[in-house]
Amino acid sequence: MRCPYCGADNSRVLESRTSEDGTTIRRRRECSSPACGRRFTTYERVEQRPLMVIKKNQDREEFSHEKLFRGLAKACEKRPIPVEQLESLVNQIERELRLEYEREVPSSAIGERVMEALRKLDGVAYVRFASVYREFRDVETLAREVMALLRDAPERGRTEAPGKAEGQVAPDGQRRPGVSPETDA
Ligand SMILES: [Zn+2]
Repeated sequence: MRCPYCGADNSRVLESRTSEDGTTIRRRRECSSPACGRRFTTYERVEQRPLMVIKKNQDREEFSHEKLFRGLAKACEKRPIPVEQLESLVNQIERELRLEYEREVPSSAIGERVMEALRKLDGVAYVRFASVYREFRDVETLAREVMALLRDAPERGRTEAPGKAEGQVAPDGQRRPGVSPETDA
């Protein structure tokens, strides 16, 4: 596997781990070039029949697991959510979509599912995602969503340890270098 940092052709596998739901193998790799030696992550999963996403303007594009993951990871940036949890969430959403929609799925169905999952997972991530996805036009709409959220989960804000989650999920979905070693799941 080619190193994404320096383009060297070889890397070695440091660790392989199967996801909790058994659908994905995640490998930590290290660039074999002595000048680089940086680490990155690859994923292996069964190739699926393409699922097309119907966008708002009726254009079709192929469903992308990575794109969905990046969207979620961005919403969850600097939140206390382990990257493994995001991965299994994306797997779960994809599985449900493939079961319910055989060939084509409206992008709105994906968005609604992600919002539902984030609402249960993390209030801040939910509002972030919803504000982009629903394109809140005004502060009142946003405020209404936030109030509804607080009403649903009044205990959520108090149980979090502030500042603990810095750097857990990078925008590209990979762990940032120097983050504490992974704990066994
Ligand atoms: Zn390299």
